[in-house]
Amino acid sequence: MWKASRQLQVGLILFLVVLLIAILANVLSPYDPYYLGDDLLVPPGSEGHPLGTNQMGCDILSMILHGSRASLTIGIVSALISGLIGTLLGAFAGYYGGVLDKITLNEKEIFGIIGESGCGKSTLGRLLIRLEEPTSGEIEFYGVSTKKLLDCNPEQFHCLVQSVFQNPFDTFTPNDTIGAIMERPLKLHHIGETDEERRKICVDALNEGGLIPAESFLERYPHELSGGQLQRISILRSMLLKPKFLVVDEPVSMLDVSVRADIINMLLKLVENHNTSILFISHDISIIRYVSARVAVMYLGNIVEMGETDTIIHHPLHPYTQALISNCASIDLDEKREPIRIEGEPPSPVDPKPCCPFAGRCFCEQEICRREKPQLRHMADGRVVACHLVKEK
Ligand code: SF4
Repeated sequence: MWKASRQLQVGLILFLVVLLIAILANVLSPYDPYYLGDDLLVPPGSEGHPLGTNQMGCDILSMILHGSRASLTIGIVSALISGLIGTLLGAFAGYYGGVLDKITLNEKEIFGIIGESGCGKSTLGRLLIRLEEPTSGEIEFYGVSTKKLLDCNPEQFHCLVQSVFQNPFDTFTPNDTIGAIMERPLKLHHIGETDEERRKICVDALNEGGLIPAESFLERYPHELSGGQLQRISILRSMLLKPKFLVVDEPVSMLDVSVRADIINMLLKLVENHNTSILFISHDISIIRYVSARVAVMYLGNIVEMGETDTIIHHPLHPYTQALISNCASIDLDEKREPIRIEGEPPSPVDPKPCCPFAGRCFCEQEICRREKPQLRHMADGRVVACHLVKEK
C-alpha cells in the first residue's frame, strides 16, 4: 500500500515535517512569537527577521513556527474526536445488528447481480444509468448524485456511464452500416476531428475486439452479422467513449454457448485495459462466478444476500440463495446438493407487504417472517444477509 500510494507518501512526509517543526519550534524560532519588538513592519529579508515583522513588531517566522504547534494540536484532537465518534457509532450499529442501507461499487470492480427473471436486476441497472428515475434513495458516482451529473452535463454523464443490453439484434438501427453506428457516438461527443480520424478509431476498436478484417465490418449491415458479432460490436461501441462505469445486462444469454466464453473474455480484457467498473447482471451464477469476485442476490426487487461470490456459492445463507444454487446445474460444487424446490410464483412487486419478500415460498418460513421484513445484516465473513433466521455476526 505504501509503495502504491503516492498521496500517502507525500502526506506522511508533510506530517513529519510539521511535527518536527512543532517539536523544535522553541529551538528554531529566533524570537518569542509574542515578543513586541521595536522594529515595526520590517520587510522580509531583513537582518534577524528573514520573513519580516508585523505592525506590532512580532517576528513573523517565529509566529509561523509556533503556529504549527496549534495547527498540529487541532489536527490531532479532531482526528481523535472523529475516530471516537466513528468507533462508538460502529459499535452501536454492530451491537444492534449493523443494518446496511448502502451498496458501494469499487473502482475497476466487476460486481455481479444474480436472481430469477423479474426480480428487478435489469431495473436496478437502468436506475444506475438513469434510464429510469428512482422513487427514493440516492445514486452517487464518485460522491456526486447521478441526477445532478445528468442535469448539469448530460454529454459528460453519457461518456462516463454506458450500457450493453441483452439482445444484440434489437440494439442497432437496421438501415445503418456498422461504420455509421460506431461513428455516431464519436461525432456526438466530439471525439476525432475528421471522418478519417473517427474511422481509424472504429477500425482500432474492431481489431481490439477480434473482428478482422475491421474495414470489411464497417461496410456491413447488422442483418449480415451473427448474434455473437453484433454483441461484440455493441460492447466495443460502448467502450469507444472509455466509460468509467458499464452496466452489462445478460450480455451472452441470447447467444450460442460456443461464442459465450470468447465474448466474456473480450469484455474482461477491454475493461481491464480501460479501467472500467462493471455491474454484470445475469441469471447464470456460473458466469457470475467467472467474472466477478463479489455478487448480490436479488429477489423481488430486494438484495437478500451480498458478499464474495465463492463464499456465497459454497455456503449460501439465505434460503432463496440456497435454492438458487442448488438448482444451478452448470456450477461445479465440491459436494452434491439436492435441488430445493421453490413453490408458487413471486408476489406482485407493486404495493409490497411489510413482511419478508420471500415469505409464502420459503421452506424455512416462521411466524415472524409474515409480519416483519428482515434487514440486511453484516455477517462475520463480510457478507450481508436479509433473513430473520440468519443470526451469525
Ligand atoms: S426471513 Fe423467513 S421467509 Fe424470509 S427468507 Fe428468512 S426464513 Fe425465509
